Amino acid sequence: MKRKKDIVIVCHCVINCNSKVEGLSLFEGALDFIKVLIDKGIGIIQLPCPELIVYGLKRWGHSKEQLDNSFFRNQCKEMLKPYIIQFENYIKSGYNLKAIIAIDGSPSCGYNKTCSSSIFNGTLCEYPNSIIERENITMINEKGIFIEELSNLLKENNLDIPFLGLDEENLEHVPFILKNL
Ligand code: SF4
Repeated sequence: MKRKKDIVIVCHCVINCNSKVEGLSLFEGALDFIKVLIDKGIGIIQLPCPELIVYGLKRWGHSKEQLDNSFFRNQCKEMLKPYIIQFENYIKSGYNLKAIIAIDGSPSCGYNKTCSSSIFNGTLCEYPNSIIERENITMINEKGIFIEELSNLLKENNLDIPFLGLDEENLEHVPFILKNL
């Protein structure tokens, strides 16, 4: 039976941009490089979108600090536990979990960077225009909350799967990512 036993894990919106905050998607449905994975015979596991599950489709964009609370962290952990069980089973059974593709810049799914604001809170009318909002947000070299929790769970379960951070605004580095798969 044909089975290459190579798998890549992707954050949800890599193959379904519809989960993103309205207005933030730079593509129509799924990122193009997924076709390369299919051509290479690599299986794909899609992680859940934590913000869609907890906050829904009509949510505003958030900073990491806004999501950094016990409720959101616990929800992330609960969503991830069934995946950790699957990952362990695949690895024990000789499968190659090649990478987890994260979304750099996301307050949840960033790996190399995440968006941060120490003053983002309160009612939206305090932020009269989006320029002011954007100026209050900076990118910092930290993981997002969901990826932090995933990283902790992998460590706790002695699972070693490398992360690759995808910067959707600079897809020139995609060939580098693909070379590592
Ligand atoms: S929370 Fe993660 S999966 Fe959901 S839209 Fe944001 S980056 Fe994508």
